[in-house]
Amino acid sequence: MMIPFNKPYLGGKELWNIAQAHAKGQMAGDGSFTKQCQAWLEQRTGTRKALLTHSCTAALEMAAILADLQPGDEVIMPSYTFVSTANAFVLRGAVPVFVDIRPDTLNLDERKIEAAITPRTRAIAPVHYAGVGCDMDAIMAIAERHGLLVIEDAAQGVLARYRDRTLGAIGHLGAFSFHETKNIISGEGGALLINDPALATRAEIIREKGTNRSQFFRGQVDKYTWVDIGSSYLPGEIIAAFLWAQMEEADAITARRLALWERYHAAFEPLERAGRVRRPVIPDGCGHNAHMYYLLLRDLDDRTAFIQAMRAEDIHCVFHYVPLHSAPYGQKVGRAADDLPLTTDLADRLVRLPLWLGLEEQQKRVIETANRVLGADRIPMSYT
Ligand SMILES: *Cc1c(COP(=O)(O)O)cnc(C)c1O
Repeated sequence: MMIPFNKPYLGGKELWNIAQAHAKGQMAGDGSFTKQCQAWLEQRTGTRKALLTHSCTAALEMAAILADLQPGDEVIMPSYTFVSTANAFVLRGAVPVFVDIRPDTLNLDERKIEAAITPRTRAIAPVHYAGVGCDMDAIMAIAERHGLLVIEDAAQGVLARYRDRTLGAIGHLGAFSFHETKNIISGEGGALLINDPALATRAEIIREKGTNRSQFFRGQVDKYTWVDIGSSYLPGEIIAAFLWAQMEEADAITARRLALWERYHAAFEPLERAGRVRRPVIPDGCGHNAHMYYLLLRDLDDRTAFIQAMRAEDIHCVFHYVPLHSAPYGQKVGRAADDLPLTTDLADRLVRLPLWLGLEEQQKRVIETANRVLGADRIPMSYT
């Protein structure tokens, strides 16, 4: 039987909640389920204000509007990320400036940020890869020194921690994803966390097509009208109803994912000791959320052979990002701070293993097969 790379988790209460929304006649956005989800996000992350969006991409686009970027302004980000991190800013005419990643976490290397800052730099967009926090103390200090906005792409970071803070709630703005490949899902879905209270009013307006509709419903203005640029970024209530069922189970979901992650991690320790793979590194002070389990192999050929060998055993393992600075559109609109040696090297060597709720019974087969493939002569490896 095929073991897929991902399988969206359904808790059981999703359909019940959707029926409730239907019974209440609430189909448009910002109904009671949306409010419940936003209150949960505020309570669990400590952010000042959370707004549900229809995707993390939408939340990042809102953040880019809030950053008030002018054409030619620059935003520092890793190249090893999903296209939305860059596209959100490119849509505003800004230039993504790609900085290399750290060898341990594959996150934006905070030691290389300052060298990439120019008079046009306006923001830093760190991405918490695999739900493992960037060095946010260092990044916030750099931003403060240079007067930059920090927009966290915390798409993978729901309920993960950096020291005593929650990912997404540390920068001025943070973006979550509830896409079905993430930990807590609504099919498509996301949220913008507005941690800087000065941005809260404008965030609501941008999300409501550039109108002050939310202020009108709170009785703060006597009519609602067009006051700014904006678009439709809010999800309907059916999405929020689904999401609420997942939020109610969020701690159990995270605990089960962490157990799967730990099992992989322990199982591959001998391979790492033998120099055949490198396992993920979780820095001190980071409480990750087991969004992903990956291994770093020796090179691209070994990774291709590994994925094929696992496929032959009906186990679906996948690589991840093609670095944005090397993509056709990234070359056209972006700029790499240097030749990004770690990004180029690590992107070729990384492979992700299946990790989803329900994998428990079959995880042994993944582990045994991976151990056999990586220990076998057909993929000769000599790590030193
Ligand atoms: C998933 C993901 C996104 C996009 O999320 P959507 O909700 O699908 O728009 C953006 N950035 C990163 C790092 C992601 O992993």
